[in-house]
Amino acid sequence: MGLPVSERPTRALVDLDRIAGNLRAIREHVKVPVMAIVKANAYGHGLVPVARHLQSVGVEHLGVAFPEEGIALRRAGITVPILVLGGVFAPQVAQYIAHDLQITVSSLEKLRQVEATAEAMGRRATVHLKVDTGMQRIGVHAWSAGPFIEAAVASRWIDLAGIFSHLACADEPDSPMTALQLERFDEACAHFTRIGAPMPPRHIANSGGVLHFPQTRLDMVRPGIMLYGVLPGAACRPTVALEPAMSLVSRVVYFKVVEAGYPVSYGATWAPLRDTRVVTIPIGYGDGYPRALSSRGSVLIHGRRFPIVGRVCMDQFMVDIGEQSAWNEDEVVLIGRQDGAELRAEQVAEAAGMIPYEVLVGLNDRIPRVYRGGGFPSAE
Ligand SMILES: *Cc1c(COP(=O)(O)O)cnc(C)c1O
Repeated sequence: MGLPVSERPTRALVDLDRIAGNLRAIREHVKVPVMAIVKANAYGHGLVPVARHLQSVGVEHLGVAFPEEGIALRRAGITVPILVLGGVFAPQVAQYIAHDLQITVSSLEKLRQVEATAEAMGRRATVHLKVDTGMQRIGVHAWSAGPFIEAAVASRWIDLAGIFSHLACADEPDSPMTALQLERFDEACAHFTRIGAPMPPRHIANSGGVLHFPQTRLDMVRPGIMLYGVLPGAACRPTVALEPAMSLVSRVVYFKVVEAGYPVSYGATWAPLRDTRVVTIPIGYGDGYPRALSSRGSVLIHGRRFPIVGRVCMDQFMVDIGEQSAWNEDEVVLIGRQDGAELRAEQVAEAAGMIPYEVLVGLNDRIPRVYRGGGFPSAE
């Protein structure tokens, strides 16, 4: 969809050079090729501009969730290998092949479906085999991967470009789950050696794996959220130097004094104990700004942090600035830095009782993305 280009003061500023810098930092850390995950509109940062920039700085591989995301990238001229991470549906196999998208094959039945379509089209399909090592989402259980691997190796219509699994607890550095999953994955991969077939590239590490578990690097890593400079969870250690790529900004649209006891916003859930100054910000849950931040979140104005008061509405919310001053059109930072202060996506998520992924991915296309770096002229 996308609204017409406008002067809407609410916007997400995306710094492509920071995404490239994060990719570089990850590369130096892991020293293996990177599959940059750009699903869900590149975690809210904009699928095509982000993928274009990653391609221009030499990313080896891209990962998306479903084929439509991959097709959008191909239509935009992206030529690097693209793996579709989600499970494949038989009726869509032909589209994958036609657009040169790599297919995640997560069962013997799906392998047969891919084979049949490839044969009918007279074109080989490129696939990554998915092994379930503990997530119980998609994939063949590690302990029954043998026949699955043999069938893939034997197929004339399948090129094996990888074998992979997904970590359930890598954002918890102390969880024993990761070592267990890696052990199961190694055991499944060993089947290639057992039958004398060449080992395809193995990959299992998401951002948490990259950050905390060096042994999960294998032949490629699949970082998503950390590419955008955000840590997966509160327990994560910043072992790689990352810079947040997105700032979310708006401007004050209204100023008033609210007298003691007069409630603010829907449901009249909050009222000041003494007379105070309240400003209105023109962004709300209709933009994907979490309603859960009602009376819990905060924003930066003039480099100071002020609380959101009352319920976040669909298109607006209110902030208590106490005895401070603010004028219409003054900049409000919802995520990012201002005058030496910083409000991170991780903190917004924490206040909302959400994970940082939800905050970023939730910001929808009512919010214009304004790009900096990567050949885009400096916006501000
Ligand atoms: C989303 C996803 C990733 C990236 O996860 P992050 O936690 O954002 O790094 C990697 N692999 C698979 C299979 C995924 O679905």
